Amino acid sequence: MESKKRVLVTGAGGFIGHHLVKRLKAEGYWVRGADLKNPEFESSPADEFEILDLRKSENCLLATRGEIDHVYNLAADMGGIQYITSIHADVCRNNVLLNANMLEASRQNQVKRFLFASTACVYNRSKQSDAEVTPLREEDAIPADPEPGYGWEKLFTEQMCHYYYKDFGFETRVVRSHNVYGPLGTFEGGKEKAPAAISRKVALAENGGDVEVWGDGEQTRSFMYIDDSVEGLFRIMQCDYQGPLNLGTDELITINKLYDMVARIAGKKLTKRHVPGPQGVRGRNSDNTRLMQVLGWKPSIPLEQGMSVTYKWIEAQVRKGKPARVPVAVE
Ligand code: NAD
Repeated sequence: MESKKRVLVTGAGGFIGHHLVKRLKAEGYWVRGADLKNPEFESSPADEFEILDLRKSENCLLATRGEIDHVYNLAADMGGIQYITSIHADVCRNNVLLNANMLEASRQNQVKRFLFASTACVYNRSKQSDAEVTPLREEDAIPADPEPGYGWEKLFTEQMCHYYYKDFGFETRVVRSHNVYGPLGTFEGGKEKAPAAISRKVALAENGGDVEVWGDGEQTRSFMYIDDSVEGLFRIMQCDYQGPLNLGTDELITINKLYDMVARIAGKKLTKRHVPGPQGVRGRNSDNTRLMQVLGWKPSIPLEQGMSVTYKWIEAQVRKGKPARVPVAVE
């Protein structure tokens, strides 16, 4: 019976959304994808794929029509640290319209469950001022001091999901993903994240040459491979827990060490050249205690294993055409 479910994935033309559609199709679901654009690197296996601007309520009603059981609401105006620290008004307006209209349309069309793709950017910045950061627990978001713009909007939509649950009994799930990486993700143009940007820069560098790093490179993050991300989203949709859940690994690494890892995978000796640039918070890691309690599962694919696959894919893309040099970004 589970395999007969009808699912809508918004943001299905994006990185995580496209991988999620592939996974849901493999599980036997009927899937509709919706996005402003088609996936960049391969076609979508969705049963229906609709090009819709989901900031408009009438388009959200269209996307959620026809007895949809589950909505994975992944569509968002977002990018790496350079993008989200320089663009606040547009990101907030676009995402607040999209999320408010998607929630209400899903409720009106009697969708059974609505999963909201939130982010670790909702966490209070005062808890992330040290590279040796204590992993963030779900309680560490409020009192609030999130990432300006993008983080504030995500935190507000989390609250809206909770209000829809409280006031209407509408079943919402909230997933706070930490940085996700893998093949078929954006690796150039300014919206890419650190793993993709570093892979591109290493692929472009001559052996014995140098690569540019923003700041001192001692800021820390954890990174989650796309297969773990999709598995976690799928499991959280099925679970009965309504509050926010972290979804990330707890394998903390500095940006400098991530460069070293990618250079090792590429078999290149490279010198890091540190230049000024946005770095985001000093340290961020995921506490997966609650995720383990709820799911009995947590992301576990080792970074080096995932980066190996990711590097090879990006290296092959770079070979096809040399992209412009743009600096590294982390969310
Ligand atoms: P992505 O940018 O690759 O995909 C987002 C998609 O949303 C894009 O294809 C975009 O065209 C679409 N979109 C934007 N505005 C739209 C609109 N008005 N109407 C319809 N579609 C619209 O991003 P992603 O990495 O796949 O992220 C998916 C979700 O997960 C986002 O909500 C993001 O905030 C969240 N998230 C991602 C990460 C990460 O590391 N990738 C980390 C935390 C949270």
